[in-house]
Amino acid sequence: MPQYQPPLRDLQFVMHEVLNVVDELKVCPPHADLDADTLNAVLEEGGKFAAEVAFPLNQVGDAQGCQLDPVTHAVTTPAGFKAAYEQYVAGGWPALSCDPAYGGQGLPFVVNSAFYEMLNSANQAWTMYPGLSHGAYECLHAHGTEEQKRLYLPKLTSGEWTGTMCLTEPHCGTDLGLLRTKAEPQPDGTYKLTGQKIFISAGEHDLAANIVHLVLARLPDAPAGTKGISLFVVPKFKVNPDGSLGERNAIHCGGLEHKMGIHGNATCQMILDGAVGTLVGQPNKGLQAMFVMMNAARLGVGNQSVGLTEVAFQNALAYARERLQMRSLSGPKAKDKPADPIIVHPDVRRMLLTAKAYAEGGRALLSYCALLLDKELHHPDEKERQDSAELLALLTPIAKAFLTDNGFIAVNECLQVFGGHGYIREWGMEQFVRDARINMIYEGTNTIQALDLLGRKVLANQGATLKKFGKLVQQLIEEEGVNERMSEFINPLAQLAEQMTKFTTEIGFKALQNPDEAGAAAVPYLRVAGHLVFGYFFARMAAVALKAIAAGSTDPFYRGKLQTARFYFARLFPETATLMRQARSGVAALLDTDEALGVDAR
Ligand SMILES: Cc1cc2nc3c(=O)[nH]c(=O)nc-3n(C[C@H](O)[C@H](O)[C@H](O)COP(=O)(O)OP(=O)(O)OC[C@H]3O[C@@H](n4cnc5c(N)ncnc54)[C@H](O)[C@@H]3O)c2cc1C
Repeated sequence: MPQYQPPLRDLQFVMHEVLNVVDELKVCPPHADLDADTLNAVLEEGGKFAAEVAFPLNQVGDAQGCQLDPVTHAVTTPAGFKAAYEQYVAGGWPALSCDPAYGGQGLPFVVNSAFYEMLNSANQAWTMYPGLSHGAYECLHAHGTEEQKRLYLPKLTSGEWTGTMCLTEPHCGTDLGLLRTKAEPQPDGTYKLTGQKIFISAGEHDLAANIVHLVLARLPDAPAGTKGISLFVVPKFKVNPDGSLGERNAIHCGGLEHKMGIHGNATCQMILDGAVGTLVGQPNKGLQAMFVMMNAARLGVGNQSVGLTEVAFQNALAYARERLQMRSLSGPKAKDKPADPIIVHPDVRRMLLTAKAYAEGGRALLSYCALLLDKELHHPDEKERQDSAELLALLTPIAKAFLTDNGFIAVNECLQVFGGHGYIREWGMEQFVRDARINMIYEGTNTIQALDLLGRKVLANQGATLKKFGKLVQQLIEEEGVNERMSEFINPLAQLAEQMTKFTTEIGFKALQNPDEAGAAAVPYLRVAGHLVFGYFFARMAAVALKAIAAGSTDPFYRGKLQTARFYFARLFPETATLMRQARSGVAALLDTDEALGVDAR
């Protein structure tokens, strides 16, 4: 049976010692009274819920999956899921970072993000039910009419109702411009939606009284492509003007996908057969409105992989301490035993440390992103709000793609630590690998994230936002560069920061001549950018650890942090050299390959 301990010490280190969340948020009126004790208490209680309620259902959910009744179209979730959700709602957890105007507790997103990391470690499939609700809440909060907010936000905040995002159709995934679901205006101001959506997470289930679907569809006179997409809110049960539940709406689950992982989450084919909905935001501007939900979901998906990395790491570490195989190359270490525990072997340490570094770097990045979101929403200074929004936009595709690629690498390494025992079910490692795989695909595949980063976030503004992040890196280099003990972290970071400008300009010029050059370079480019960001956070974390040690702390946590940062810079960060060569190698090696692939590209 796998185990899970909430990583409270490291979460608190990131929040209080690295990011100084409480001080940073003091100037934001809704968070002026936040204090470290409250924050720690919430994390502790949240960790208990994750470890004691959600985690024990992880393997059960995987084994049982969801069931669809073909007659009633009802979906039953695995045993225990509904009771856990009731406990979650009773504990007030859905309201954690929601607006007090709608019954929320108004805590910062950075707290919610940490809570969600623990839930994701405990049970990614279960966590997607409340996770999607949160995205729907944010989208309606930002773009809903007063009436939509009044009807839906209190119920999403309390968790009585859950939410979904309905974008994908059988013929249209990445390219939403192809979508066909129709929305016909009705005389009463509502719309009737007809079409089919597929792969809809949490599309139907038995956890909540109602499901609030946010659906992308086309108005009759809509222009073709992405400029003709509108957003609608379509509830499973219609909602009466007083907020009570009305009759069943014409949207139902027509089938459940049988899939590789996250079996406990219902991935639904949704049929809209004249379902009644109301417009969210402006006609034909649905994609912009949906981006609020998609951006939240992208950070949420990065968070899923950090959660899985942490839990896989904890189990691999426990196993490596116990499993006896072979002797250390430098002579026996556990002389009283028939063999040494495998943790003595350098390559087993490499696998463990890869997961540890990816979990800790990811945790720092996600907490930073959530803090930027809090500042974007609530900072009193408009420039701060603007800067935070821009930085967050830059970091979001990195948080989605870099963290989920790393997550898959990490959980695979953790499975490998178990040898053959990792491949069989009992230890739970193969489930982590299966569950982690989807994170690289949904919410825009990682290739699409890379194109977004390079095209829209970097080249479209001539690298202006990247330079803003570069300034933060430069500031750290100036502050810490004088400290001899920081040189092992600062020197490689400074070198990459310097290379990054030339590297970006070079790819930008090539892309101007041939846009396919951007497509050829984007994926390795995102990984290089990801390492720049991780390098920055590992250097910051190392600086904090060194200061604590210099101030006399003997807490092994700080030495451990330094060792992890050292490992990161020695073994993971250097892949940037190869990645830059790949990105520079140009498009011909990819597209000038018709004979190799046997295709006629014309
Ligand atoms: C378990 C699960 C849950 C999901 N949950 C939801 C949900 O809740 N709501 C929802 O709306 N959708 C959901 N999805 C759908 C998911 O977001 C899509 O699968 C994803 O966006 C990719 O679309 P596609 O599968 O149609 O692949 P395609 O768009 O057909 O892409 C196929 C491949 O081509 C690549 N590709 C496409 N265009 C380009 C390009 N321009 N350049 C380079 N490569 C390109 C892609 O990266 C991919 O590798 C879910 C999917 C799954 C499997």
